[in-house]
Amino acid sequence: MASPYQELKQRAWAANQEIPKRGLAIYTFGNVSALDVERGVIAIKPSGVEYDRLKADDLVVVDLSGKIVEGSLRPSSDTATHLVLYRAWKGITGVVHTHSTYATGWAQARIPIPIYGTTHADHLAEDVPITALMSDEAVERDYEVETGNQILECFSKREPLHTPMVLVAGHGPFTWGETPEKAIYNAAVLEELARMAFVTRTLEPASARLPDRLIRKHFERKHGKNAYYGQK
Ligand SMILES: [Zn+2]
Repeated sequence: MASPYQELKQRAWAANQEIPKRGLAIYTFGNVSALDVERGVIAIKPSGVEYDRLKADDLVVVDLSGKIVEGSLRPSSDTATHLVLYRAWKGITGVVHTHSTYATGWAQARIPIPIYGTTHADHLAEDVPITALMSDEAVERDYEVETGNQILECFSKREPLHTPMVLVAGHGPFTWGETPEKAIYNAAVLEELARMAFVTRTLEPASARLPDRLIRKHFERKHGKNAYYGQK
């Protein structure tokens, strides 16, 4: 009998393939999950399987409490972090984690990525936020759940769909979106913003952030209620 999760697994598989394709990770680094809102399950990359050997059937289906519903492999070790975000935020159906070089560089330097230019403002209207560094107790408690909690804490006054990305201090980026495809797009965009900001700061360490009016203009024309970017 065909799996009721076939479509979800296929979609999550395709999104995972974008990680090496966009140069966001080597070997088995990184993972993407996709949520089926009606069934209350996600499909996520299995732990430690290389992308070129990954098949759609290898994806692991897990319910929102973390119980395996389908699949013979172990789910990504970051699964619990993905689940914290899905449980907390309505409207998110894709989560991506990578150790892409430039975004991870900023995460390791523990610096939010400054909003230096309009490319950044086209996607989010603030610096890419960074979580606090995890306490020793939290590391010991339940590391992956606590990673999710660090992100939620960082977003206590933010709208996740307006700022669909974060740097986890000392670790690397997480991104998300209304769809898994949007989540992986945000991961690729974040890496590019991180790279541009690195070049900007290298050329001129005192580079100023983009003025507010330009940030608003660029963000609103793509995301505001009177958005006019692209084709209708
Ligand atoms: Zn990681």
